[in-house]
Amino acid sequence: AKRDGRSSYRYFSPEMNVSILEHIQLEQRLRRAVLQGEFFLCYQPLVNLSDRSIIGVEALIRWRDPKFGLISPEQFIPMAEETGLIEPIGEWVIEQALIDLHVWHSMGYMINMAVNVSGRQLINNNQTDFDLVIDKLLKKYDIKPKHLHIEITESMLMDDTEQCLHALKAIRDLGMDIYIDDFGTGYSSLSYLKRFPISVIKIDKSFVDNMLDCQSDANLIKAIVMMGKSLELKLVAEGIETEEQLQFLKSLGCDFGQGYLISHPLPNQELTALLEKSYFP
Ligand code: C2E
Ligand code: CA
Ligand code: CA
Ligand code: CA
Repeated sequence: AKRDGRSSYRYFSPEMNVSILEHIQLEQRLRRAVLQGEFFLCYQPLVNLSDRSIIGVEALIRWRDPKFGLISPEQFIPMAEETGLIEPIGEWVIEQALIDLHVWHSMGYMINMAVNVSGRQLINNNQTDFDLVIDKLLKKYDIKPKHLHIEITESMLMDDTEQCLHALKAIRDLGMDIYIDDFGTGYSSLSYLKRFPISVIKIDKSFVDNMLDCQSDANLIKAIVMMGKSLELKLVAEGIETEEQLQFLKSLGCDFGQGYLISHPLPNQELTALLEKSYFP
């Protein structure tokens, strides 16, 4: 460990030094990406399982770094949350999503737009409340609140519960729907579903993946669907990749679905082409 006498390196393996450097580099690149506008959105359709009509899309952020190419949101969203960069990034996502939605609405495609929102966006807006920011953007792009939906994760509700509740109620009062994302993977108690102004449950992909081979996952989905229905919530299954999965979810009474079987997330022009081909009101 003392190889070259530089004791300051003693406690760090070479791998650790690299990862700290990479961490710092990623943060610097992310800061620059915000300034240079290196992000774009892809949109994944959400369909009615009964007739497969497209009723909405989910906006999913993409980052193309000039040197490293596409970087997955799973890699940079946690960093953005840590550094506070999620605030400008998150606001950009909502504005860009509304710009595209305005175009689709003006073409007659009256779809809904769902955006993923991090906890820090909801409660760390020290200058303006989140609902006021949203309200301003909705008016700017002439979008009715009922067409903009917010996806939050279970784990998000666990931190800063009271502040989240307050922010979510304000959003709900505007007339927007709130989805609980990745449902079943967190640790929230069922009472959260009643306490929070949620209208849609998104069943996590991991259960959909296994439900046809694993009886306990199938039972779990059945239980989620039954519970959701008894609370008068809508249900979305994510990550549907096969026809068998779609049929099974439909037979359970799940309302909506998303997944590669139906469509991958698409850049806006490709989504327009898909709507031209397969949108029916
Ligand atoms: P998520 O919200 O659970 O989004 C679903 C992820 O599953 C997306 O990955 C989507 O491309 C992928 N997916 C959809 N259908 C299928 C399928 O049939 N099979 C498989 N294998 N995957 C499928 P993506 O786009 O890489 O996003 C990953 C996560 O990053 C999202 O998970 C979300 O938590 C986060 N994220 C993405 N965009 C944003 C954003 O604008 N803001 C925030 N705060 N988080 C975002
Ligand atoms: Ca989501
Ligand atoms: Ca999800
Ligand atoms: Ca997820």
